[in-house]
Amino acid sequence: MSPLGARLARQIAATGPLSLAQYMAACLMDPEHGYYATRDPLGAAGDFTTAPEISQMFGELLGLCLTQNWLDQGAPQGVLAEAGPGRGTLMADILRATRGVPGMHDRLALHLIEASPALRAQQAARLPGAVWHDHIDTLPEAPLWFIANEFFDALPIRQFVRAGQGWREVVVGLQDGKLARGLTPPAPLADLAHRLEDVPEGGVVEVCPSALPIMQALADRIARHGGAAIIVDYGGPRSLGDTFQAVRGHAFADPFAEPGRADLTAHVDFGALAAAAPGLTVSALTPQGDLLSALGIEARAERLGRTLTGPALDSHRAALHRLTDASEMGTLFKALALVAPGAPLPPGFAPAEPKAVR
Ligand code: SAH
Repeated sequence: MSPLGARLARQIAATGPLSLAQYMAACLMDPEHGYYATRDPLGAAGDFTTAPEISQMFGELLGLCLTQNWLDQGAPQGVLAEAGPGRGTLMADILRATRGVPGMHDRLALHLIEASPALRAQQAARLPGAVWHDHIDTLPEAPLWFIANEFFDALPIRQFVRAGQGWREVVVGLQDGKLARGLTPPAPLADLAHRLEDVPEGGVVEVCPSALPIMQALADRIARHGGAAIIVDYGGPRSLGDTFQAVRGHAFADPFAEPGRADLTAHVDFGALAAAAPGLTVSALTPQGDLLSALGIEARAERLGRTLTGPALDSHRAALHRLTDASEMGTLFKALALVAPGAPLPPGFAPAEPKAVR
């Protein structure tokens, strides 16, 4: 077992099982052994890759999308912020693509929300002049253009299994000295009462408690001062089923085998994010492939491809396919935009369908 695994096992033996959220938080952000806290997990040599690492086109198009929305809202002085910037690639591409937009870089101050000291160091090398935050609530009170890619999937989740009219929580306990998944006795849960309507016996629901104050902080600023938030991640309109997963060396792994040495994530419940920001107008949940197509990725890919030949052209074409095709990231990954009521949505996003009246 990893050193963190041994420590968690001692802790569980002394004080009882951990919720999945407590376990995930320790595995990802423990200062000494946490997966993100201590390393850069991205890229071909790391454990996984992400859209901005696959191609510069992702950041360029999302940067122009945010910028058009900033222009549409009168190009005010404000904040450009990213949560969980990883290596800083997305923001570096956004800034490069928008260099020619008059006034933008002067009027928008760059703020980054990042908990990992290891990744902050990488971001500092690529994004000079940025201001870092541990939490979103210290962002300035100002118009805010916010982006996050594969950030919410890394936030700790709790899992509940339906049992009759109640729920059993998934916990991490010990079995034969090893960390193992366990279940609490069933209990009713007011917060999940509405899910008794659509979750079958034995079905799993995931909730992400730390996402809610983040959405509230975004909503407060955007509703009061203007701006927009764009959130891209894998997930769907609501949580249904067990999506807790570990990835190591670009392959799925056992999430309990070596805590601190694998990336742990869960699919994002976009419906819960939208519900936590009731003061904002929410776009339709948009598949990544559709969004990038609407923003002109085919034309951008053709233009970039003109200067390439041989293996470089092949990998450029493969990147386009990976970002947009339904068999790759095009459908599993989704984007949601949130703006103040009455403000324009960023390009590529349609208004959400009005809720069916019952
Ligand atoms: N957005 C980047 C990196 C995704 S990995 C990309 O697309 O390549 C997840 C990022 O979120 C990392 O930078 C990680 O350190 C950060 N992160 C995870 N949990 C966090 C938390 N609770 N607070 C702040 N940052 C967090």
